[in-house]
Amino acid sequence: MDWNKLEEKWQRRWEEAGVFEADPDPDRPKYYLTVAYPYPNSPQHIGHGRTYTLTDVHARYRRMQGYNVLFPMGWHYTGTPVIAMVERLKERDPELLETFLNLYNIPEDRLHELETPVGMAAYFAEEIKAGMRRMGFSIDWRREFTTIDPYYSRFIEWQFEKLRQRGYITQGSHPVGWCPGCGNPVGQHDTVGDKEPEIEDFTVIKFRRGDTYYPAATLRPETVFGVTNMWLNPDSLYVEVTVDGESWVVSAEAANKLQFLGHEVEIVSEFLGNKLIGASLTNPMTGEETPILPASFVDPKNATGVVMSVPAHAPFDHVALEQLKKSSKKFFKRYNLKEREVAKIKPVSLIELPGWGESPAVDIVEKMGITDQEDPRLEKATREIYSQEFHNGRLRGNTGQYAGLPVERAKDAVRKDMVADGRATTMYELIKPVQCRCGSDVLVKIFENQWFINYGDQAWKELAHENLDAMEIIPRELRREYVHVIDWLIGKACARNVGLGTPLPWAPDWIIESLSDSTIYMAYYTVIKDIVRLSLDAEKLDEGFWDYLFLGIGDAAEVAEAVETPVEELEGMRTQFEYFYPLDARHSGRDLIPNHLTFMIFNHDAIFPRENWPRSIVVNGSVLMEGQKMSKSLNNIIPLATAIDRFGTDPLRLALMITAEPLKDADFSPELAKSMADNLERFHNRVREIASEPVEDGAELTKIDLWMLSRLQHYISEANEAMDEMKVRKTIHAALYDLNQDLNWYMKRVETQMDQSERKKAIQSVLRTIVDAQVRLLVPFTPHLCEEIWESMGNEGFAAFAEWPQPDQDSVRLDAEELEQVIRDSVEDVKKIVRVTGITLGNIQFYAATGWKWKVYMKALQLAESGELDIGTLIRESFKDDELKALRREVPAFARIVVEDVKKTPGDTVRRRIEMGVINEMALLEDAASFFKEEFGCDITVSNESDPWIEDPENRARRAKPYRPAIYVT
Ligand SMILES: [Zn+2]
Repeated sequence: MDWNKLEEKWQRRWEEAGVFEADPDPDRPKYYLTVAYPYPNSPQHIGHGRTYTLTDVHARYRRMQGYNVLFPMGWHYTGTPVIAMVERLKERDPELLETFLNLYNIPEDRLHELETPVGMAAYFAEEIKAGMRRMGFSIDWRREFTTIDPYYSRFIEWQFEKLRQRGYITQGSHPVGWCPGCGNPVGQHDTVGDKEPEIEDFTVIKFRRGDTYYPAATLRPETVFGVTNMWLNPDSLYVEVTVDGESWVVSAEAANKLQFLGHEVEIVSEFLGNKLIGASLTNPMTGEETPILPASFVDPKNATGVVMSVPAHAPFDHVALEQLKKSSKKFFKRYNLKEREVAKIKPVSLIELPGWGESPAVDIVEKMGITDQEDPRLEKATREIYSQEFHNGRLRGNTGQYAGLPVERAKDAVRKDMVADGRATTMYELIKPVQCRCGSDVLVKIFENQWFINYGDQAWKELAHENLDAMEIIPRELRREYVHVIDWLIGKACARNVGLGTPLPWAPDWIIESLSDSTIYMAYYTVIKDIVRLSLDAEKLDEGFWDYLFLGIGDAAEVAEAVETPVEELEGMRTQFEYFYPLDARHSGRDLIPNHLTFMIFNHDAIFPRENWPRSIVVNGSVLMEGQKMSKSLNNIIPLATAIDRFGTDPLRLALMITAEPLKDADFSPELAKSMADNLERFHNRVREIASEPVEDGAELTKIDLWMLSRLQHYISEANEAMDEMKVRKTIHAALYDLNQDLNWYMKRVETQMDQSERKKAIQSVLRTIVDAQVRLLVPFTPHLCEEIWESMGNEGFAAFAEWPQPDQDSVRLDAEELEQVIRDSVEDVKKIVRVTGITLGNIQFYAATGWKWKVYMKALQLAESGELDIGTLIRESFKDDELKALRREVPAFARIVVEDVKKTPGDTVRRRIEMGVINEMALLEDAASFFKEEFGCDITVSNESDPWIEDPENRARRAKPYRPAIYVT
């Protein structure tokens, strides 16, 4: 199969017919979906293919459901990603050159075009667009734009005016993630591993020694009542400093951080932590003395480098303390510690947790068998205890005025009181360490006079929660992640002094940064095509213009006059927006939940009325290459263009979609793509064969035909359920693998019937029905091949617009499936016998169960249905029947077997079998005899186990059970 030729053919046909260009159509429901537009700062590799392919699959699926689907695309030129790449290129970074020239084959004589941000962005936008076209994405390209177009700037100005008018823009001092190396605020797109710098406001408890404070940062201030000791790292550098006039001891790194947080810091002296081991500090809450002990796990980069130890409630502290107790004599001597004193330190419990012992941290560590502070499971144990205690714990009597309070409330109360009287202060710090792409550790900086979008606004958060509650989140397991982000988000620095982008309208020396100019552009797609077509003057597109388009405010005639366009044109744009909005689905990678996706919710809620808030978000994981992350150092990146050349678009799309459900990382490999190609070719050949035969309606269907059609409905149902949650892997499995298995079985079963013309007619029509549905189920995944097949089957129009299959409940014939299962099980049973005995088959005898067994079996089903099935009852019930009573010896043994079987039978099967009554297994088996003969190449005899003439030298016949004939082979 020449995949590339096939792709070109259908992409040309789609384009010529303009089939993916969507405009308002009052007679059709719309479906509007978008995917995060790319930063055009490098070529695409197959890792990028997944998110966009999933969006395209979604778009195609909705189209087949009859929706008028809009799927547009744009280019994110603004922000640091493009600029940072230009810098690396200008510095002739050897790794970058190697990648650009040798991996992506960028012609060397064009490199100079890439040395300006716009040049680079334009080059890669073209490259990425070509890749998206070759992937067959069903995009309406008429709506394409870049984020540095003058029109876009006017639109962003409008967005910021709206935010400011609603009070969501603030100027002032706020904590931001900050790179001291680059001298810039950093967001997720600037960090190693794309980690969002999550900032938390820690409580810093001022332990004391004389007049000097040893501030310990914690997220659990209430546990100050259970502190047994302090931890310092003996080998790290600590400093004595004056902080705003007070004397503090902190790690050297912490002293640096305190400056970024706006404190006056002056260093008095420097020393290693070991100097302080053995000293004792006063707990400001309890007045108790607690010793300072050595701990290598204390990271001086983390918060203050001074750690309070609460072994009763912090698994980490408990394990570290127990390990310390087991140290050598030499160790104790080295730090001048008294072994006996350390051994005396016992956990002090201050939280009562129902269902747990005195000290939950001790319990969980013992339960999980953790003995080493390096054990990675400690993280999990800590989370578990933290969450349990937070939600269910109460403070004990040793916590003074807080005794009896739930932890959830005590936490805030303790913090508030301690901060109020100076026994504690607060400090912004990252929850987890994050590194800037330049290699520096990201810090928290209190940023002065910066412009912020105030995502910390409580009323705004409530709107965002409301929107989220009404939204569909796929995969649904991720809903709590959004809840968490909405809750923790604070002011987001929204402007910088450098870079491409739109100046802040009221402070034009500031440029709006890229996570803030990309939150509501889905609205912009709906109108930009006409703005460009009409060549409106960007200068004239003021607040009134956008207010009219997006909010319906103002007089159309006046606005039209102001922008010098006919009023019908203006109204036409408003119609585009009103028709396509709200956004039905937003797609992106999972990593954008902490910023972009949540910002999108906030900004929509601030600017648009409720009916235009986004309806759903779909995210997916990333792509692994043969189980590993794709990276330059592993040399395992495949450029998208190379992958298309090598594997073909449809096999590539299928491989990206089949390996994982949205939440998991997809594991790609060249072998997988090749096997997809083989699979699709086999599928194509089979369909071609089936489609080449004429089809006539009206032939009578037999049981096996009904079985096949019934199975088909299952797979269609499965595919539909899966698509509702974009579980595309499941859909492909149902449509391609599972259905094919049943189809193979069917074709084997009817092979010997093809010489009867009536049967042939029926079989042909069944096969046609199957492949017709199968092709339609696969259109969203392998659109090019499916168009080809669709056409060869003599269908009119594009497969892209064929109707998505719906299960036909009338064709569901569970009774036919029950009966066919008897045949399938029998085949398996014979195969097993052959496998075990190694016999060469001469004859197979099937013995159907005799009448009295059916009587017992039916009684067992009845009892199971009424919930009374047990062996005693079944025997008692059976003996009410005279025939069974006469079989005193046989019935109890058989009843025992039946009870076991029926107990394992699902309830709906039990009910169905009751409905079906006694089935004629003899007829069923005889009907399949020619198939068995063909399948096993030997003679077949079918009899009832009680027939007097049966041959049964090994006494097998008596093993027959209803739905499970006995077998004897020779
Ligand atoms: Zn940096």
